[in-house]
Amino acid sequence: MRKTLLVSLLAVGALPASAQRRAPEVSVATVERVLTTLAADDMQGRATGQPGQLKAAEFLAAEFRRIGLQPLPGATGFAQEFPAYQTAVTSASVVLNGAAQPAAQVLALTTQPNLSWTEKDDVTLLVLGPQDQVQPHLGEIFRPAKNTLVLLDPSQATFFKSLAERYRRPRLRAEQAGNPYSTVVVLAPAPAGPPTYRVAATTATTTVPLRNVAGYLPGHDAAHAAEKIIFSGHYDHLGILKPVAGDSIANGADDDASGTTAVVALAEYFKQRNDNARSLIFVAFTAEEIGGFGARYFSKQLDPKELTAMFNIEMIGKPAKFGPNTAFITGYDKSDFGPLLQANLTGTKFKFEPDPYPEQHLFYRSDNATLAQLGVPAHTISTDQIPTDKLYHSVDDEASSLDIKNMTAIINAIARSATGIVAGRQTPSRVAPEQVEK
Ligand SMILES: [Zn+2]
Repeated sequence: MRKTLLVSLLAVGALPASAQRRAPEVSVATVERVLTTLAADDMQGRATGQPGQLKAAEFLAAEFRRIGLQPLPGATGFAQEFPAYQTAVTSASVVLNGAAQPAAQVLALTTQPNLSWTEKDDVTLLVLGPQDQVQPHLGEIFRPAKNTLVLLDPSQATFFKSLAERYRRPRLRAEQAGNPYSTVVVLAPAPAGPPTYRVAATTATTTVPLRNVAGYLPGHDAAHAAEKIIFSGHYDHLGILKPVAGDSIANGADDDASGTTAVVALAEYFKQRNDNARSLIFVAFTAEEIGGFGARYFSKQLDPKELTAMFNIEMIGKPAKFGPNTAFITGYDKSDFGPLLQANLTGTKFKFEPDPYPEQHLFYRSDNATLAQLGVPAHTISTDQIPTDKLYHSVDDEASSLDIKNMTAIINAIARSATGIVAGRQTPSRVAPEQVEK
């Protein structure tokens, strides 16, 4: 015992003064506190536009304030607000060959305030009989290029039910102008000849304010300060789901309270280091789960040419298939981001691997894709074993299922792996936009 202590004291004594100062570490206390706060039941699953999510946004802004981040250049606070649009169908009816169809068998997929069609109008009639496959017609149904009336045979009721479950709920969209064309589906047998019909529907559209939470650490080196590095995660989740064993809150501890926690912990870490040559942006995105609106709005506020790299962090709460002290990077071959990160980890036991699930298209399933399409080396770092993750998008994605120690090791590895890029010594190659699917 003593000998080891003596040896280590001697070793420290031999080190130059600068190396004796302990480099800051990512705080495990911060990781645990932020994660359990975001994943707590009182955040109600952080569904986009809901009160629980607002509470999460206010908590994150308070964390950024505590850490000492600044608002983004030109902003007055950490909240980045923008509108989304929610349309709710308030009435829908179909009279077919003179017979009013039961309301439960009518479904309008529309963003238009009023629909009023008859067989005399320019409406596409799509008849799907008992033998017809629905799959080849999904494009026409969901993204009609013309007003479309679908007569769906009652034997296809299962498909109708799944449609109704999704579309009877109000849905958010990013653009004020929705599709000018609509689809109305009726569960009814195909009539013998060309039918007569009267279709009517009304909808109400409301504006819903959404918010990203973004903070900034300006770069210390005049030569690099205009270059920005993004650390991001999405703080929204699914909200309230069907109860399972009395629990209905989708806490989203791994998805993506874990990545959002990493963003906060990294902000704290880099603020303490206080030596970033490039400017750092820390952002918690909204509305990832319902279409990535938050990242889309955010990316439009910035010049992609000024963005050196994006570290998007998604689901790092459970160990990766490669074991502890590993994580994978999506779109590994689309830039040299991965090898650059690994080069800073020489001498550690941590290893970044290429995404082992290319068939899952994870590169496109998170908020990095928007900026990658603009050429930014924007990748997602994750550990999730998504093909076998039973907790994914369930009410059981709880803080207690996560490995905080491994998660902290990953965040430390991200911090360390970013050293060269943060210091302006490394610049990852750009992503070729033609290699990114739209
Ligand atoms: Zn998700």
